[in-house]
Amino acid sequence: VLVVRRRMRTTGRRARAEEVLRVLEERCATPIGKLREVADDMTAEMVAGLQAEGASKLKMLVSYVDNLPTGDEKGLFYALDLGGTNFRVLRVQLGGKEGRVLKQEYEEVSIPPHLMVGSSNELFDFIAAALAKFVASEGEDFHLPQGRHRELGFTFSFPVKQSSIASGILIKWTKGFCIDETVGEDVVAELTKAMERQGLDMKVAALVNDTIGTLAGGRYDDSDVIAAVILGTGTNAAYVERAQAIPKLNVVPKSGEMVINMEWGNFWSPHLPMTDYDKALDFDSLNPGEQIYEKLISGMYLGEILRRVLLRMAKEASLFGDIVPSKLEIPFVLRTPHMSAMHHDASPDLKVVGTKLKEVLGIPNTSWKTRKLVVNVCDVIAKRGARIAAAGIYGILKKLGRDTAPTDTASKRRTVIAMDGGLYEHYAIFSKWLQSTLRELLGEEASASVVVKLANDGSGIGAALLAASHSQYLKLQES
Ligand code: BGC
Ligand code: MG
Repeated sequence: VLVVRRRMRTTGRRARAEEVLRVLEERCATPIGKLREVADDMTAEMVAGLQAEGASKLKMLVSYVDNLPTGDEKGLFYALDLGGTNFRVLRVQLGGKEGRVLKQEYEEVSIPPHLMVGSSNELFDFIAAALAKFVASEGEDFHLPQGRHRELGFTFSFPVKQSSIASGILIKWTKGFCIDETVGEDVVAELTKAMERQGLDMKVAALVNDTIGTLAGGRYDDSDVIAAVILGTGTNAAYVERAQAIPKLNVVPKSGEMVINMEWGNFWSPHLPMTDYDKALDFDSLNPGEQIYEKLISGMYLGEILRRVLLRMAKEASLFGDIVPSKLEIPFVLRTPHMSAMHHDASPDLKVVGTKLKEVLGIPNTSWKTRKLVVNVCDVIAKRGARIAAAGIYGILKKLGRDTAPTDTASKRRTVIAMDGGLYEHYAIFSKWLQSTLRELLGEEASASVVVKLANDGSGIGAALLAASHSQYLKLQES
């Protein structure tokens, strides 16, 4: 009798957990019609954001990059990339048209979490110190002409209001960084002061968002690149816009074009599928009310959404037994890489899922059915994120008139989107959903000319290339 009763209890629990899943699935649904509405809202907000400052949640920031790399870039340049989980320093010897990238070296350092929420000086001192150490290891293969300063492309992956190619103030932090005193400050000045404190002789020649760096690096490799998207810890997109389509633009670019950093992480539309989990996650976050699109899509948050769903299943349906596993209560313990590992588990007994639940959440001995339920939750969350990200890309293509097949049948027009970020690179189910959804939205004919190209760490090289094309010395030579 006891055994039967226990079995009945387990079945009842699972049924309640299945019900939680069913509701989640319903709220996260992204039928194609809804995605088209999201895309149309994206297009409309782009237009609004270009019109005037503050006219849309999409900031559509002017990057002051009006020329993308041509291949002529020459010399030794450094790049520094701050904004994800790791920060990276890089040097590259550029050889111009023939030489291209003669040699490059980089180093990656993870940022101690306390520095992300500490003081401005501490963060910038840490970065400058790592950079100084890296510069000190510069070998003979790298060559700086006599009398020149070293120059740096500074990739700073947060919303910045630029006033020139090499200056800009931080609008707000995102992605778990939160240092109030930096907001409103010129981040180039902050870095420059920190480099001086290190006794490092280095000039910031270009300040760029990671999307801009990726776009520049992508264009260097492929002249058909017109936009860049980041799907990593955070998410964002940048693209090349006609100056005439930017009423708020206060400079006249010779090229007639301007690269725009959309800051699409802050996009919002009433058509976005939001759940109570998302609302609670946003409420508890360091930046409530902001970066809503990012919180539905990017690597910092997917694992956390999953944790919240599993926690509800534990509380309301005792999915993991009579007591709620205490680790499951800790925000951000379950990371997107864990989620991805579970989601990709191809073993018949879902061994990886079992191991992760045990190791990360301290939940031992889960049944196959429980594990399967966890995988199904991963599926709902990842699929929603990937599909609405695809809708965003489709919105950009619509804005550019690249959502239909080239009219001239002989035309070989390609539309290439440079993609970077760990989420896209490592979460295969996510990237497959994104690609297939984009195809679905574009239709067969139009999607034949659209390519999403992984530009692995294009942003580092891209920043160095932009430093080269905006070099002080180049300007001196020209004048
Ligand atoms: C930032 C963007 C950045 C993106 C990807 C977002 O949180 O606001 O500036 O491009 O993350 O790194
Ligand atoms: Mg990055």
